[in-house]
Amino acid sequence: MIVIRLFIILLCLPLPSFGWGFFAHQRINQLAVFLLPPEMMVFYKPHIDYLSTHASDADKRRYVVAGEAPRHFIDLDHYDILLPHTWQAALDCYGSDTLNTYGILPWHLQLMMTRLTNAFKDRDLARILRLSADLGHYLGDACVPLHASSNHDGQLSEQEGIHALWESRIPELMADQTFTYWTGKAEYINNINSCIWQTIRESAMAADTVLSVEKQLSREFAPNQRYAYEKRQGKLVRNYAAAYTKAYQQRLGDMVERRMRTAVHLVASCWYTAWVNAGEPRLQ
Ligand SMILES: [Zn+2]
Repeated sequence: MIVIRLFIILLCLPLPSFGWGFFAHQRINQLAVFLLPPEMMVFYKPHIDYLSTHASDADKRRYVVAGEAPRHFIDLDHYDILLPHTWQAALDCYGSDTLNTYGILPWHLQLMMTRLTNAFKDRDLARILRLSADLGHYLGDACVPLHASSNHDGQLSEQEGIHALWESRIPELMADQTFTYWTGKAEYINNINSCIWQTIRESAMAADTVLSVEKQLSREFAPNQRYAYEKRQGKLVRNYAAAYTKAYQQRLGDMVERRMRTAVHLVASCWYTAWVNAGEPRLQ
C-alpha cells in the first residue's frame, strides 16, 4: 500500500529540473557553435555532439561532487547591497558559508573563464571541450531568472513547479517549433566580470515577472486545465498542460525565447573571448 501511495505521489510531482532543462542546455551549446568564427568553428563543429551531450554534466555532478550545487545559482535578493564583483572581496565581506548558502554562480563563471582561457593557451583540446560544455551550462543558468532568486521554485509563493515550467516545459514544447535564435556572430567581451554581473542582474530583475505572471494566469485556469498527464520514458507523469504552457510564454512576452537567445549568444561570445585572450591559438 505504501509503495502504491509513493508511486502515486511520484507521478504527481512536477519533473525535476536544475537549470534550463536538459533539452534547453543542449540546444544552447549546440546553437552557440554556429556563431563562432571559422578558426574556432573548424574545431567546435566536429565536436558539436559532445558539446550538446555534455551540456548538463554540471547538473549531474550536483549529487556527487561536494560544492557543486551553489555554482548554479545566486539568491541575489538575499543581499540588500551590491555584491563585490570579485571572489576575494566577496569572501572578505561575507565568508564562505554565507556565499555558498546563497550561491556562487557569478564568481564561478569568472573562474571557468580563466580555466578555459588557460586550456586554450595550453592547446589542450580535450580540456577545451570539457570546459566549453560546462561553461555553456553555467552561462545558461545565469540567464534563467529563477536562478537569481531565493524563490527559485515558487516555494515561497505556493507556485512549486514553476521552475521547470519556465525552463523545461516551455522550451521542450515550443523551442523547435516557434523560437528564433538569430543573434549575430559571437562578439569579444571587453569586461567579462561586468558582462556576467549584468546578465545575472537582468535575470534577477525578471524573476518577479516570472512569478507574478504565473500567479495571475493560475487564477484564470481551473486546476484540471493547468495540468495534464503524459507519457515520458514509458511512465505516466503529471505536467503543465500544453495550452497553459503556451499561454504562460505568451503572457511573458516571449521571455523564455529571449533569454534562451541571450544565452546562445553569451555562450558563443564567452568561448570566443577566452580564445582571443589566450592569443587565438590554432585549434587543429
Ligand atoms: Zn545548472
